[in-house]
Amino acid sequence: MAAICRIMMVFAIAIGVATLAFGGAARAVTDVTDLRVGQHPDKVRFVLDLTNQADFLVFLLPDPYRIVIDLPQMNFNLPDDGRSRRVGAITGWRYGLFEPGTSRVVIDASAPMIVKAAFILPPSGSNGHRLVVDLAPTDRDTFLTASNESVAKRVALRAPSLNAPPPVPAPASDLRRVIVIDPGHGGVDPGALGHKHHEKEIVLAAAKTLAQKLEQTRRYKVVMTRDRDAFVGLRERISIARRAGADLFVSLHADSIDDTSLRGLSVYTLSETASDQEAAALAVSENKVDIIAGLDLSDQAPEVTDILIDLAQRRTKNLSARMAAHVVEEMAKVTPLLGRSHRFAGFAVLKAPDVPSVLVELGFLSNPTDHKNLEDPAFRNRLADGLARAIDSYFQGVQSAYR
Ligand SMILES: [Zn+2]
Repeated sequence: MAAICRIMMVFAIAIGVATLAFGGAARAVTDVTDLRVGQHPDKVRFVLDLTNQADFLVFLLPDPYRIVIDLPQMNFNLPDDGRSRRVGAITGWRYGLFEPGTSRVVIDASAPMIVKAAFILPPSGSNGHRLVVDLAPTDRDTFLTASNESVAKRVALRAPSLNAPPPVPAPASDLRRVIVIDPGHGGVDPGALGHKHHEKEIVLAAAKTLAQKLEQTRRYKVVMTRDRDAFVGLRERISIARRAGADLFVSLHADSIDDTSLRGLSVYTLSETASDQEAAALAVSENKVDIIAGLDLSDQAPEVTDILIDLAQRRTKNLSARMAAHVVEEMAKVTPLLGRSHRFAGFAVLKAPDVPSVLVELGFLSNPTDHKNLEDPAFRNRLADGLARAIDSYFQGVQSAYR
């Protein structure tokens, strides 16, 4: 019995994998026009009537037992008989907007239930599109295993694009991507010393130019970790990004080295080996609830939370590497690159487990040519153009990869 249920669960999740594209092309506003629940001999069947085809993902949460259905953002226009009530082991249901771009149906159960099947039926006869979720009784162990697997998949699948706003001319401010720009150093910490200006001043000027360009697109909301000559601790920079709900964190620096012939731009992401201890410490010190961007983990068993954090970190690293590749590609058009231009290091500022992060060394203040360029507002303008293009490419890539 347990094995059969496991297979069914995988099946249900696989449907979500194949079609999960909340950020995808189909943008028509969908209405949920009815919600019907029926008790059958071997299952409880949930049917949602939809005005359009829709992608969905089902996952399970224990204590109390819940079956969660995530959908693209929809309007719920349900008749009175769609209201929550008790049906067998189902004690009721809730629905509504979970976060911009995602609507959610939560089914509460008094006993463990497994997803026997979940599928979309195309229109036929007088029926429109229907999302069908069949739930069957199971034992607690099977439920917990299925819950872990389904929640892990929910996290692994979750791309920033899931919450992407439709490409409308003037997106509402709360639907823009949040880019945190982190000008390195500041205040008592000058960073690398230049002749005229120090690193802290040069990267702040570059950051402001980039911020302005991103804001002008109206696709991005920019948060700066500092917008003046002030000291900001490394932990605080990460906290700013996480508080802002950052989709991407870009730290700007300019290097200095004894070898004055060395020049060129490089981009860093967090190294595999350096990350674990820091990330673990961060996970402990901060509230675990909000680490997994939007999944409510407050009532998850600790081991489940750890799995989720681990998955989030892996995904974050992949996305960071992807962003680094776009930076290398775009910046090569603007400025010479340092050899092995994408590098790995344990920069503390890159250690948010859930925010894709890169650190860009714009060039070497110790090199006369780089230094002269970085002092030049016109050059910094071209750098900012390149970084803005890299950010655009990154988000386009993230979106299509999960389409
Ligand atoms: Zn620096």
